[in-house]
Amino acid sequence: RAKQKGRNTFCFYDSDMNDQALDRLKLEEALRRALVRSEFQLYYQPQIDLQTGLMTGVEALIRWNCPERGLVSPTVFIPVAEETNLISMIGWWVLEEACRQQASWRAAGIPPIKVAVNVSGRQFLNTALVECISDLLRQYEVEPSLLEIELTESTVMAEPEKAIEQLTRLREIGIQVSVDDFGTGYSSLSYLKRLPLSTIKVDRSFVRDVNSQSDNAAIVSAILGLADALDMSIVAEGVETEGEETHLRDAGCIKVQGFRYAQPMPAEKLRDWMISYRS
Ligand code: C2E
Ligand code: MG
Ligand code: MG
Ligand code: MG
Repeated sequence: RAKQKGRNTFCFYDSDMNDQALDRLKLEEALRRALVRSEFQLYYQPQIDLQTGLMTGVEALIRWNCPERGLVSPTVFIPVAEETNLISMIGWWVLEEACRQQASWRAAGIPPIKVAVNVSGRQFLNTALVECISDLLRQYEVEPSLLEIELTESTVMAEPEKAIEQLTRLREIGIQVSVDDFGTGYSSLSYLKRLPLSTIKVDRSFVRDVNSQSDNAAIVSAILGLADALDMSIVAEGVETEGEETHLRDAGCIKVQGFRYAQPMPAEKLRDWMISYRS
C-alpha cells in the first residue's frame, strides 16, 4: 500500500490497520515506557491458614499506574506483554521488586513474609531463570524458602519435559512452586505426578458458591483428593463469603486467599493490615 502511494510517502500506520490494532500498538508503546518511568507497583494479597487463622504469606500482584490510562489491570496488559518480549523485562522487575520488598521489611524489623510471585511461561522456560533468582536472593539476602513461584497449568504443561527440568532446578535452590488457576487448563495427570510442585491453587471459578453449587463442590473435593494423593498442599483462590469458607474448611481445605480476608494492597497498607488483623 505504501508503495502504491509512491516512493516519498511515509506510511507509518498501514491504512488497513484497524482501530483495534492501533490501540494495541499504543498500549504496547505505553507498556514499554512504563518500566523506565517506574509506573509498575506490586500489591500484596494475604493467604490465610484456616486452622490457625494466621497469615502464611502473600501473593504479589502487579499494578500499572499509567498516567494516561489510570490503573490498568494485569488481565489487560500481561497478555499483551506476553505476546511481545516485554514480559521478560516486566517479569524480572517483579522478581527483583519482591526481593527488594523483603529486604525492606527486614530492615524495618518486620518478621519474614513468604511472597508468591506469578511467572509467565516465556520467563519460566528461560534458562537464565534459576541463576537470576539465585543472584537476587543473594543480593537482597532473602531466604529461598521465602520466595514461591506461581505458574499456570498451561505454562507447566506446554513443554512438560523442560518444565520438569526447570522445576527440579528451582526446588534444588529451595524455591517452592505452585500451579495457579488449577482446573482451568489441561493438566496431564501423569505429568502432574512427575512435577515437583508444592501447591495447587484452586481456581476462583470453582470456589465461587462452592457451598451452594454442587458441581463446584464436587470439583473442589476431587482437587483436594488429587492434592492429597500427590502430596501437594492446596490454596483456594477468591474466597469471598462465609459460606464458601465454611464449606472449604469442612472439606479439608486449609489455606485460603480472597476478598473475604483482604484485597491486594500496597506494602505500606499490608503492614497496617497485619497489625489490625492480629489484634
Ligand atoms: P492470579 O495469579 O490467579 O491472581 C489472582 C487474581 O484474583 C488477582 O487479580 C486478585 O486480585 C484476584 N482476587 C483475589 N481474591 C479475589 C476474590 O475474592 N474475588 C475476586 N473476584 N478476585 C479475587 P489481579 O491482581 O487482577 O491479577 C489477575 C491475573 O494477572 C493474575 O491471576 C495473574 O495471572 C496475572 N498477574 C498478576 N500479577 C502478575 C505478575 O506479576 N506477573 C505475571 N506474569 N502475571 C501476573
Ligand atoms: Mg497467581
Ligand atoms: Mg489464580
Ligand atoms: Mg487467574
